[in-house]
Amino acid sequence: MDNVNPATGKVYSQIPRSGAADLTMAVNAAERAFPIWSGMSVNERSAILLRLAAGIEARMEEFVVAESRDNGKPEKLAAHVDIPRAVSNFHFFATAIEHFSSESHYMEHVGINFTTRRPIGIVGCISPWNLPLYLFSWKIAPALAAGNCVIAKPSEITPYTASLLGDIANEAGMPAGVLNILHGTGPEIGNEIVSHPKIKAISFTGGTATGQHIAGIAAPMFKKLSLELGGKNPTVVFPDVDIKQTVKEVFRSSFSNQGQICLCGSRIFVHQDIYEAFKTAFVDWVSSAKVSYPADPNAQIGAVVSKGHMEKILGYIALAKEEGGRVLTGGARVRLEAPYQDGYYLAPTVIEGLSNTCRTNQEEIFGPVVSILPFSEESEVLAMANGTKYGLAASVWTKDLNVAHRMADRLEMGIVWVNSWLIRDLRTPFGGMKDSGVGREGGWEALRFFTEPKNIFIKYE
Ligand code: NDP
Repeated sequence: MDNVNPATGKVYSQIPRSGAADLTMAVNAAERAFPIWSGMSVNERSAILLRLAAGIEARMEEFVVAESRDNGKPEKLAAHVDIPRAVSNFHFFATAIEHFSSESHYMEHVGINFTTRRPIGIVGCISPWNLPLYLFSWKIAPALAAGNCVIAKPSEITPYTASLLGDIANEAGMPAGVLNILHGTGPEIGNEIVSHPKIKAISFTGGTATGQHIAGIAAPMFKKLSLELGGKNPTVVFPDVDIKQTVKEVFRSSFSNQGQICLCGSRIFVHQDIYEAFKTAFVDWVSSAKVSYPADPNAQIGAVVSKGHMEKILGYIALAKEEGGRVLTGGARVRLEAPYQDGYYLAPTVIEGLSNTCRTNQEEIFGPVVSILPFSEESEVLAMANGTKYGLAASVWTKDLNVAHRMADRLEMGIVWVNSWLIRDLRTPFGGMKDSGVGREGGWEALRFFTEPKNIFIKYE
């Protein structure tokens, strides 16, 4: 299959289009490897995963360029976020597994329960294109650390760093068959992975509709499921903030990675007392952002991931206008100079005048498009913030501790940031409520997901 560079719109590599026969080979290899991998001491497994982390770090520049070329994101972002965080994921779970313990429950005069947590066996990990290696490793690292063999599929749109990871795994001394990376399309090889009876758990990150489809196949087979899905995240700005500072932070939470992060805020609610001042400063800031090719060190906004995705986003901007929205800045494709003239660049877009219930404010756009809305009361903004089918993440901006606590407690979201956005501690649970997913990743949650608990009770005489 052709692999396109979104910065130029040109094909630059080809990837295998795997099918059922490839999956059979991978499952057979994983079955052979499972006793070896799960039977290794935790120290040995940890050492291999640490070598894997070090292997990526040693080839950082190559990974950064590859990620940015596949995805269109500024190289600066891949260098500061994507690849270092992938290294951290392997490092974190390589060391976490050494401290992972299970429970024991003593019953006076009766006996003792103890719980073992063994690896599940062969597990499937399917990840999307927006943070390719970062999200791929976020699943693979805990699955491997816990002693499972993994069959993993990156998005066909961004396969390159996953392929490099395969080389590094071999160099790190990972036994053959432990990590099997299959390239190809979601409806083909992705679907095969989800349906295979020997793959006992599926960890999936992607769109809500795909998650629903996957659950439909996996649930009747009683597979363990972790689904990290879409969002329509609120950003709530109260009147006591420092406007200048908050504008910069909200710019980042809205447009990082061209707005293609599941955690990006796309509905910005601003208190009516500062609405005009905030809006003016925000639109000024957004309209001066540099849209440029990924290797430009000053690029703030790179290319969106594909032509199809660019057209989808432009379709939503047209819909917003039909729904009565006014485009305050952006709203169109940006044509850069050669050789980037056919790249998929969009101006960061701010829209005003839409109701919270219209499609533009209810459906996930997953691009550099935000809607800005005024509010007057805390209860009103809480209802609007919670008023979508999603419940992934929110950010709240205020200096009032009581407001911060109340909002954080009442927002129906898996993650709430106060006066910050996307500060991640790998020990914390990660995931969403409602249609944003099932289960949590991160820390012990991930290691619990990738292990099967067994309770053993021994009676005293
Ligand atoms: P998709 O759901 O289209 O794809 C995600 C992954 O699933 C890709 O690897 C895709 O393969 C694969 N896939 C597609 N169809 C199937 C299928 N029938 N069976 C098995 N696998 C399949 O999402 P996108 O790639 O468009 O990613 C964007 C979405 O991901 C957004 O909705 C975003 O919110 C969400 N997301 C959620 C996060 C979270 O943690 N909650 C984090 C990041 C993104 P291929 O691409 O090769 O077709």
